[in-house]
This record gives sequence, C-alpha cells and structure tokens, in this order.
Amino acid sequence: MSRETSSAEIAERLLAGDRAALSRLISWAENAHPDFPAALATLWPRVGRAWRIGITGPPGSGKSTLTSELVALLRRGAATVGVLAIDPSSPFSGGALLGDRIRMDERTADEGVYIRSMASRESHGGLARAASDACDVMDAFGIDFILLETVGVGQAEYDVIGAADTVVVVLCPGAGDGIQAMKAGLLEVADILVVNKADLEGADLLELDLRDALRLRGIRAAPGDPAWEVPVVSASARDGVGLDVLLAGLEGHRRALEAGSNAERRRRKRALQVRRVVGERLDEELWGPGGFTERAESSLRKSATPYDVAEEILVHLRGVAGPRPAEDASPTERSPS
Ligand code: GDP
Repeated sequence: MSRETSSAEIAERLLAGDRAALSRLISWAENAHPDFPAALATLWPRVGRAWRIGITGPPGSGKSTLTSELVALLRRGAATVGVLAIDPSSPFSGGALLGDRIRMDERTADEGVYIRSMASRESHGGLARAASDACDVMDAFGIDFILLETVGVGQAEYDVIGAADTVVVVLCPGAGDGIQAMKAGLLEVADILVVNKADLEGADLLELDLRDALRLRGIRAAPGDPAWEVPVVSASARDGVGLDVLLAGLEGHRRALEAGSNAERRRRKRALQVRRVVGERLDEELWGPGGFTERAESSLRKSATPYDVAEEILVHLRGVAGPRPAEDASPTERSPS
C-alpha cells in the first residue's frame, strides 16, 4: 500500500465515524508522523465547525472538575464533546494523565464524548502544533465542542491555549490568587474568568479584586475584534453550581465573535500554525541528521565568532533557497474553513 493510499484511507475511516481512526490520527499529529499532512489534507474540507474552548488556570483551581461538569452539561444539550488534556510538564504521553482523571470515567463510556491527553514532545514548540492539529482532527470527526484543558499555567500552556476560540481562566481563593493571576498574565488571555470554589471563604473577595482589575484595564479589543466585556463567573464546580452561567458566557462570547471578527481571528491562528510547522521543520532540517550541527562546530575557528558561523550558514541557506517567494504566491487551494 502506498503512503498516500494509507493516509487517505485512515482519513476516510475517520470521516465515516471510526473512533479508532480518530485516535490514530491524533497520535500521528502528536508524533509528527510523516503521513499526517496528507491525512489532514483529506480531512480539511470538514475542518472549521467545532467550537474550541481553552480551560486554563493554576493547578488545583478545579479545571478538571469544571471540565467534567461542562462535558455533562453540553451532553445534556446533545452536543458531542472532545476533551484534550494538555500537560507540557509531563515527559510522557498517554495513560498516566488519563489515569489521574478518573472522575472523567463515567463520561468515557459515552459515545458522544472523546477524551485524550497529550504531554510534552521532544521537538521545540511541538506540543502547541500537535494540539492544534488534534483539534482539527476532532473537528473533522464532527465533534461540536473541543475542550482544551491545561494542567498548569506557563508559556507552553499559553501557546497551546492560543488554539482556542474562547479561553476560560479558572481561579479559586487561596494563596496569592488574584495577584498571582495578574502577575502570570492570566487576565490578559481570559475571555471568561471563573472564580471557582465559591463555597470557600475568600471567593467573594477574589471576585471583587478581579472585577476591579478588569475595570482598571478597560474593555479589551484587539484590532478588528468586537468589544467584549470579560465576565467573572462565580462557580462551585464540585457542586455543579454556576455552570449554567458559564455556559451562557461561552455562548455569548461565541455570538460576539461570530458577529464580528472570528474569521479574522481564525486566520491569525492558522498563520500561527503555519509558523509552528515551518519552525519545527526548519529546526529538524538544520539541526537533525545531515544538518548543520557539525558544520557549526567545525567552523568554530579562533577568529570566527558564533555570529560569523551563523552568517556563513545563513548565506548558504539563502543560496540554496533562492530568492524569497513573490508576495502573491499562494499554496494549493483547498476548501476554506
Ligand atoms: P485542577 O488541578 O485545576 O484540574 O483541579 P481539580 O479539578 O483536580 O480540583 C482540585 C481539588 O479541588 C479537588 O480536590 C476538587 O475536588 C476540589 N474542588 C473542585 N471544585 C471545587 C469547588 O467548587 N469547591 C471546593 N471546595 N472544592 C473544589
């Protein structure tokens, strides 16, 4: 079987609703399998319908609990849901993280729910690229809502959460809380803020702090984006309290984006994914087998600074690559998403 036949075949199986094909293609995305791009090309006309929700916040704030409750709520409305649990700090993928998510178990028996974990990869920036690819694959499968949940908060998580249409930041009362969140830049990425564990002391105060901080910051609107007032939702995920308000917030944000600049936002996210793919491939070509590592080392003569050596390599690359492509050069057309 040729490479192309097999990738097309597995993509066709996914489009026919085969969950094993879905799992396999997500693994391909995760491992940067050489056949993944061809499979994605087959899926492409079906990508772009799912709503992607990022759920982030400090460990222990209740993201898992909230995600699980949100899955149940969305299922009640008959929507299909995918959960991608992202753990950049974990060096391995698969079992362990899902094992920790035992509370999700009751949902995994449900055909309308697909749960998957993803951990850090060797390649630089590979996790965000893989997560975005995995979302595309779930999207093509026909999943309505994709919940991208991160374990903690850090640069890697921010990169991943960048694939979401709506970002929910979950905080809870406790050490540092609001101030920590502001320091970590969590307020900047939030489309919706959830103060979870509203049953605990200090939740009211945290909510007030956050509202103040948001007021001071004013209404955020990136160029071309609709003005969106970030709501602060009080919740008790463990007791299923406040989830309906969160859902209303999610729907509100979706409506605001769809009435405004969502196409533009999605184009920006696509461009980011192109940059990730190019970066990853370049890195591999430059420093992988047959690359420039040896040359970089062997060229380190006494008189040559690292800049001299880098310039030599860049001159070589420019020679190989030829002139830059014309502005109007466009890649092969596929159905737009
Ligand atoms: P994550 O690390 O952000 O995913 O947080 P988890 O969902 O694992 O929750 C951390 C702990 O907080 C668990 O022991 C939960 O049972 C607990 N928890 C979650 N939601 C609530 C809540 O609304 N109130 C209280 N008191 N505890 C909660």
